[in-house]
Amino acid sequence: MFQVKDLSFNYPKNKEDTLRNLSFSIQDGEIFGLLGPSGVGKSTTQKVMTKLLPKFRGEILFRNQDLRAYGREFYQEIGVGFEMPVHFSKLTALENLAFFKKLYRKNADTDYLLERVGLIKDKNKKVAEFSKGMKVRLNFVRALLNNPQVLFLDEPTMGLDPKNSRIIKDIIKEFREKGGTVLLTTHLMNDVEELCDRVAFLANGAIAEIDTPKNLKLKYGARTLEVEYAENDEMLTTSFDLDTFGKDPEFLDIVQNKTVITIHSSETSLDDIFIKITGVETDE
Ligand code: ADP
Repeated sequence: MFQVKDLSFNYPKNKEDTLRNLSFSIQDGEIFGLLGPSGVGKSTTQKVMTKLLPKFRGEILFRNQDLRAYGREFYQEIGVGFEMPVHFSKLTALENLAFFKKLYRKNADTDYLLERVGLIKDKNKKVAEFSKGMKVRLNFVRALLNNPQVLFLDEPTMGLDPKNSRIIKDIIKEFREKGGTVLLTTHLMNDVEELCDRVAFLANGAIAEIDTPKNLKLKYGARTLEVEYAENDEMLTTSFDLDTFGKDPEFLDIVQNKTVITIHSSETSLDDIFIKITGVETDE
């Protein structure tokens, strides 16, 4: 769907490039996650790929054609849900959607989408009266208004409670099941785990890793077995290599001679991997 080659980008007033030689491709029908600490260039990448920042260096192919060669018809194919919801606050939700619908040839069923995100009863309310979470959901509906083939989503569940976040994630998954392609940024590693087929980690404006979440876990993962046991009224914990613990004399001694309290295998989380690759905590 997209092939990005040696993409670099510089904001005119900045000395250094914000994006440096990014190369990656996004396959038709996959959810591709763009991850990395705040300020690393995720939104900038999305803006370049949606033709909002045309002065990039390198090459981007969309359906094997130079992105620069596309005109306004490009926007018929893509849906964009960026982080800051922009709506006309004096208009109702429905009036906002009607306005944006006019920009497109194809239209989705607005009532169906509003029903799905739990806004149907609020459709005639002015957006000024909406809570932040309601605006985020309306923004998500807006991204789907033209029945796009590709969705660009920047932190789509930001500010949503678990129930609404679940709804949005389900719709994203259904979008992929129907053949849609998604480029997603999020700092929530649980969302990544659930949604992303592949992820690219950005660090210092460049790509540090691209792979499936599963392969990254295998690569960065420490496969360990944690054993908690009691000895002389003391609680002790020891960890063993998950691949060799069965022959480890210390492990055998514990299970045969001590009182085991808990045993569990521990898998490296994507949060740990995020920190290892980018050197930054995920909530920074
Ligand atoms: P992220 O989405 O990963 O948080 P951004 O793409 O928003 O990161 O920002 C990347 C870098 O580019 C940051 O250092 C930010 O300050 C800078 N930047 C973003 N927008 C502009 C702009 N309009 N002009 C100059 N610098 C910008």
